[in-house]
Amino acid sequence: MAYMNRELRNLVEEMDRTFKLPRDWNKFLFQIEKNHNIILKNKGSYYCTNCQNTFEIKTKVKVTHMYKCPFCKKKLQIRSNKLKHLTYRDNVMIIDKCNNELILRVFEMESIYNPNRQEFEHSTVEYARKLIEKDFRELRNERITPGMTSFSVNHYMTENGKWRLYDGWWQGADNIGYLYKNNIKNVLNGTKYERSRLWDFVRNQYDEGYDAKRLFYVANSEMFETLVELKLYNLAFVAECFHKAGSFKKIFGIGKDYYEFMKKNDITYEELKVLRIYPTKNIKELRFLRKYSNSIDEINRYMSLDKFIRYFKSNNLSDARLYLDYLKFAEKLGIDLKNKRYLFPENLKEMHDEYEKQIETAKQKKLANEILKRARMLKRNIFKNKTFIIFPAESVQALIDESAQQNNCVRTYAEEYAKGNCDIYFMRYVKNQKVSLVTVEVKENKVVQKRIKNNEKTTSTQNKFLKLWEEKILNKIAV
Ligand SMILES: [Zn+2]
Repeated sequence: MAYMNRELRNLVEEMDRTFKLPRDWNKFLFQIEKNHNIILKNKGSYYCTNCQNTFEIKTKVKVTHMYKCPFCKKKLQIRSNKLKHLTYRDNVMIIDKCNNELILRVFEMESIYNPNRQEFEHSTVEYARKLIEKDFRELRNERITPGMTSFSVNHYMTENGKWRLYDGWWQGADNIGYLYKNNIKNVLNGTKYERSRLWDFVRNQYDEGYDAKRLFYVANSEMFETLVELKLYNLAFVAECFHKAGSFKKIFGIGKDYYEFMKKNDITYEELKVLRIYPTKNIKELRFLRKYSNSIDEINRYMSLDKFIRYFKSNNLSDARLYLDYLKFAEKLGIDLKNKRYLFPENLKEMHDEYEKQIETAKQKKLANEILKRARMLKRNIFKNKTFIIFPAESVQALIDESAQQNNCVRTYAEEYAKGNCDIYFMRYVKNQKVSLVTVEVKENKVVQKRIKNNEKTTSTQNKFLKLWEEKILNKIAV
């Protein structure tokens, strides 16, 4: 725990003296508690722990799936009625102010299942306060017990205990959870957020998952207020991506006639990016394309996007990467993509695999040809004395064979060898030319590697032969 200066100590005292919770706070908590419930399954009958009604479901619903109770309309998880232990924990937050300092008060709601009564027992206690304008510095009270990877909040103490400044960068209290809405406008009055419309951004305080730190961050952006006012909430959440640029078109990169469409569907930034490339007022199309937003430029190279959509939808496809690979293979193989049979194959996966195989085969063939050419060229360097002979590797197969005999990795040199980046020779006994002896790599007429079996070193007789070969043949010095 860090040292607190006088100003901070005063703030803590002042908070304890003045902080109150709104009149409807308990009502607010009560509504959230309803989410901490389950539907108990007992064979074909279902019991809602929220509204205590029993009902039947025609089609079976599995345990752990979510289901909307037909009585209270809450979407709750289905659990077995033999369940013994279950605990829900959620953050509940409220924005407050003290000494002109904006404070985020963080509570934990804990709901523990009681199997005897088949109901949850709820408790909500405050455990952290964050100084919003000081980068959410955290004050925490004695309810927090730090653990190895997270902390726990004690719900059984009657008092919060002392507030202390927490300065660890790990295990900070979360700023995400339910956010009380009704006081936001008031509390922000007189602060730099008084025109931010942050209170309008929080549309439903019974939705979990408001990220308070993120919200105050984007509320500082010049466009936040405007985006909220336009009811483009998902875009407001990334308000820093927009700038006051004059016209609608300049700000959003798309004409104003799309505004109603954007608002109605509360489009996200990802969707907007697609919309700029592919203007449509069909949200299904847009959301379909969003999944492929990284491939749109590439797809556009081959066809219009609506053709792509039609093809994928009518063939029930989902893998754009596979399709793009297919198109590239087809292009390489010189297949006529103007022909619809090839541009939109009926069995994409099969065709993709077939073309991939063809390309691989062609590649191997090319490699084999190139190695043959190289070997022909290097034949002039064949050299022998009474004991040894050295000759170039003649084929891919010869390289594989050498690798197997010598237990080395020369086969992986095939491509480099084919390209002429290195020369590969085999040195063997004249009398036993089928059996490997020394694998030799030459670069710029110099022996750079000479390896006998298991990558061991060559003997002095072998070295002498290689030296002579290097001088007499590779460097053509008359001896
Ligand atoms: Zn219910």
